[in-house]
Amino acid sequence: MKFNTKTIHGGQKLDPAYNAVIPPIYQTTTYAQFTPGEHKGYEYSRSKNPTRHALENSFASIENGEYGIAFGSGMAAIDAVLKLLQPGDEVISTNDLYGGSYRLFTKIYQKFGIRFKFIGMENASKIEEHINKNTKLIWVETPTNPLLNIIDVKTTAKIAKRHNVLLAVDNTFATPYLQQPLDLGADIVMHSVTKYIGGHSDLVMGALVVKDKALADSLYFIQNASGAICAPQDSFLALRGIKTLHVRMQRHCENGKAVAEYLLKHPKIENVYWPGFKNHPNHKIAKSQMKDFGGMVSFITEGNDYNEAINIVQNLKVFTLAESLGGVESLAGHPASMTHASIPKEERDKIGVVDALIRLSVGIEDEEDLIEDLKQAIG
Ligand SMILES: *Cc1c(COP(=O)(O)O)cnc(C)c1O
Repeated sequence: MKFNTKTIHGGQKLDPAYNAVIPPIYQTTTYAQFTPGEHKGYEYSRSKNPTRHALENSFASIENGEYGIAFGSGMAAIDAVLKLLQPGDEVISTNDLYGGSYRLFTKIYQKFGIRFKFIGMENASKIEEHINKNTKLIWVETPTNPLLNIIDVKTTAKIAKRHNVLLAVDNTFATPYLQQPLDLGADIVMHSVTKYIGGHSDLVMGALVVKDKALADSLYFIQNASGAICAPQDSFLALRGIKTLHVRMQRHCENGKAVAEYLLKHPKIENVYWPGFKNHPNHKIAKSQMKDFGGMVSFITEGNDYNEAINIVQNLKVFTLAESLGGVESLAGHPASMTHASIPKEERDKIGVVDALIRLSVGIEDEEDLIEDLKQAIG
């Protein structure tokens, strides 16, 4: 089955009760047992729920994995991966990553004795220098948030395999429509389903997908033991979102390209970050591991001016000033004061998340209306 067909049919079966084509919302906690311990496969909804199960099968299918594991948020999914580790273990993570991931690593897991090294991964072959006998996990986000850096997943996977280290890829920005990390050699794919996969800004959810049975069993154990599961109603909405992922992504990519090219030519814009530009430092890798370049575009205003950036995001009318990304509607954000405020200013400046940086999640509206809106806001 190819990707577009998988978004609609992948891992899905008719519901056994009445042949419902769409998996019903099983809003139930518990399931009657025939005799103690004998049941139809479901006993308690934290452990397993038919609606969530259908969604987990869909996740596995669209990421070319074997096992999908759904969580109540993207952060809960990342949290479950970190629970595979022991005190003393080390994690190598990209230094330009989602602020919430940075916060979870440094504010929660560091105090349980897990060590983190945040490094630039633009040159993936250099990751190897940072591996030692305690390294257990490499955490990669590509494209990165908010600077749209690209990390070479295939090269990173080879290094990880050589040292028997797990490689996890946060695939939230790319989605499986653009990039399938398991095919590139990663062990774990993670999603904030809240973003493109849900796609309609109406749910918060996370997912992991793996191929290996033992790894899946460990993660299902953590999912059930820690209990950060998602609800049946949200599972239904996510399944509905997945069915249009490919058509939405196609338009996100077209509009993202149009917006990036418009901003690049604008005299009042100093720098535009978008992996589709030929002079993007890792454009070649983006081209080889991604089908297209996505709908996320970041830029810096002329003279790196903070006030100018704030004015622009406030003047936008079609783009809404809001956190989050990946919905059908266009959003604008100011990372330094919003999504990345949890990273100290010193660290932010070092990695390029400067005070004048604006991040756009380009939606699927008409391209002309988006360009017109940017034109009036930037002046
Ligand atoms: C939003 C986001 C997360 C966290 O997901 P939630 O669903 O908000 O918990 C993790 N990684 C990336 C890249 C994100 O954009």
